[in-house]
Amino acid sequence: MPVDAAHALLAWYDAHARALPWRAPPGTSAPDPYRVWLSEIMLQQTTVAAVGPYFAKFTRAWPTVADLAAADEAELMAAWAGLGYYARARNLIACARAVMADHGGRFPDSEEGLRALPGIGAYTAAAIAAIAFGRRAVVVDANVERVVTRLFACGEPLPNARPRIRELTDSITPDARAGDFAQAMMDLGATVCTVRNPRCGSCPLGAGCEARAEGNAEAYPVKPPRKAKPRRKGIAYWLESDGAVLLVRRPGKGMLGGMRALPGGAWGDAADATPPLDADWRPIGTVEHVFTHFALSLDVMATHLPGRPIEGEWWPVDRIGEAGLPTLYARAATLGRASQEMLAL
Ligand code: SF4
Repeated sequence: MPVDAAHALLAWYDAHARALPWRAPPGTSAPDPYRVWLSEIMLQQTTVAAVGPYFAKFTRAWPTVADLAAADEAELMAAWAGLGYYARARNLIACARAVMADHGGRFPDSEEGLRALPGIGAYTAAAIAAIAFGRRAVVVDANVERVVTRLFACGEPLPNARPRIRELTDSITPDARAGDFAQAMMDLGATVCTVRNPRCGSCPLGAGCEARAEGNAEAYPVKPPRKAKPRRKGIAYWLESDGAVLLVRRPGKGMLGGMRALPGGAWGDAADATPPLDADWRPIGTVEHVFTHFALSLDVMATHLPGRPIEGEWWPVDRIGEAGLPTLYARAATLGRASQEMLAL
């Protein structure tokens, strides 16, 4: 690695930085910590393209951390629907409230202070400290991991290689312009040092890159052997009555906690759940969905009965898109909406 890697990278960033709604242009004053924090939480496990519309929606509805702290929780969960990893949305409110209650409405400006807040882990704390407050912090996301393992031809497989990758990233992180450097590394990984076909010929770090010299950039980072995800089964019940469908709210803790859903029991080795009432339930299809730690086959059963046969939240079928259902249940609802025809009712 040439010693001026940071210099070369920052010069490249000045000309090629991605214009993203939560960013300040390179070299300008620090952006609003609230917007940096919100974007970093949304970007966890999620692509820039998917986050864009959600970031716009959230900053319109809740332009400051005080607004978000005062948000209606159900409304916020509904606004998050479709972005996935719903624990993030619950932590979002908890964090905004902690910033208001314990920090006078200002985010702490150190990694340590940030890490003490709900939903902020080591990576996110480093990213916010560097980007929002210009602190020198070692920021390693998946893009940075790829660039660094290639630069140094780090052959140790993930995840064991992570402490070494952190050390290597630390060794090239400059004291000045820490936020720009972190974002420059992310941008380089996203646009030049890509997973497939990296554009080494256009790379500002190409001259010192060991993987490029070896001619096998795509071999890095070295991945551990793939393990098959465990499979779980579940049932969702589409109970339709007079143009409305019965919805429930999932328990606050656990998968999709606090989100609206179709009724159905816990997920496990077998699809097994008591229906909301005894009726002629018919299978109308199965939704296959992959979560981080398991794959789920959700069998969808339907029945149509007149006169709202039980108490509950009855949601108009033709406005089901506004219910804030997470993707799994939105797909089950698509099957449900077609069930009238399918069951020949
Ligand atoms: Fe990545 Fe190629 Fe640049 Fe090395 S030279 S950092 S492999 S794009």
